[in-house]
Amino acid sequence: MSVSATLRPPQSERNHVRRLSGQDAAGQDLTKGPTVVVPEKHLMAPSDAHEVAASIELARHELEQYTLRSESPSTPPESQVTDRFAYAFDIDGVLIRGGKPIPEAIEAMKLLNGQNQYGVKVPYIFVTNGGGKTEQERCRQLSDQLEIEVSPGQFICGHTPMREMAQKYSTVLVVGGEGEKCRHVAEGYGFKDVVTPGDIIKDNTDTTPFRKLTDEEWENSRARNFNKVEIEAIFVFADSRDWAGDQQIILDLLMSKKGRLGTRSETFDEGPPVFFSHNDVIWSTSHELSRIGMGALRASLEAMFKAVTGKELKTTAFGKPQIGTFQFATRLLQQWRKDTHGIDQPPDTVYFVGDTPESDIRGTNEFNSHAENTWFSILVRTGVYKEGTKPKFTPKATVNNVLEAVQYGLVREQQKLVKEKAAPQTAVITE
Ligand SMILES: [Mg+2]
Repeated sequence: MSVSATLRPPQSERNHVRRLSGQDAAGQDLTKGPTVVVPEKHLMAPSDAHEVAASIELARHELEQYTLRSESPSTPPESQVTDRFAYAFDIDGVLIRGGKPIPEAIEAMKLLNGQNQYGVKVPYIFVTNGGGKTEQERCRQLSDQLEIEVSPGQFICGHTPMREMAQKYSTVLVVGGEGEKCRHVAEGYGFKDVVTPGDIIKDNTDTTPFRKLTDEEWENSRARNFNKVEIEAIFVFADSRDWAGDQQIILDLLMSKKGRLGTRSETFDEGPPVFFSHNDVIWSTSHELSRIGMGALRASLEAMFKAVTGKELKTTAFGKPQIGTFQFATRLLQQWRKDTHGIDQPPDTVYFVGDTPESDIRGTNEFNSHAENTWFSILVRTGVYKEGTKPKFTPKATVNNVLEAVQYGLVREQQKLVKEKAAPQTAVITE
């Protein structure tokens, strides 16, 4: 038996967690209950020890939440939260690069938290196409990197909207990420039966002639008989660590009869649907040149399917620039502003700061043409986009880095305020 196991929160807390729907997803929905580490069996009391542990953990969690709400160490007491505008940030190439914060990012966050010449505190959220770990884990990491407290209530990653698919599909293949992490993410989202490529290779080692599981992978992969399993959908949660093996397995399923491994459809249109958490072909890492990402795997898979079957493969991608992701972001921001700042109306302007014209800028501009408020795209030069090239989608502003992006919005908003004050007052109807 493993040294520790995770335990779901007590029933009352579980009842509090609702399934997300496209209509009512909110910040608190993204905050799962606490993870509880349970002692080894022999250390546990015979009766309700796990519930006691859960209660203690829950109390600790609530205390932390309370402390969080009542303290804002980086915010001067005199600063005021603005209800006029807000910020949304892409992460890779804007705030983080190669696992390290971009130097200006920490200062930019301080500015938003009230340390600016106007004494204004600006609400903000994070919208990344990245993923591969739980929202909670990613937020803890981001909190350390940026020296601020980041809550899952202000965070969306590429696979966050996939939660909603757990209602529809029961047995699914989850691809990508490190080790078992994406399986755990998917199970946390409510998927009932999550299969990984490792499980399939363990069942039949001839599946991938050049890919052998490591001892650890063999240990973690679950033994089962795939003759009896019908895989209903394929989800690429995060970047594949083994393109050849993963693509072989995805192709096998796409060409199968109803997701049964070992079968071949004669028409090649009976396989399960495949979903990608985003479609970024390239992304910014510590390497001086952009690296290929999940969008490249998608293009590769579509091309291979065509080459092998002669048919077009239709796949679906979430993430930016999909409108659904921006709608999700709107709901998240609304809930976040309400919960933490007591603001119950949409901001006039949301400044979206990103480095990838094809996802960040395109998505923001397209959403702006649908939204009732203004979504203002700002492109930074610290990531995918390089100076001297013409971005495929034109941002409203281009700046050197995230600090300048924040300064830009603060100044622009101040100028708008001054202009409004100087403008003649419109007639006000009084009783
Ligand atoms: Mg980026």
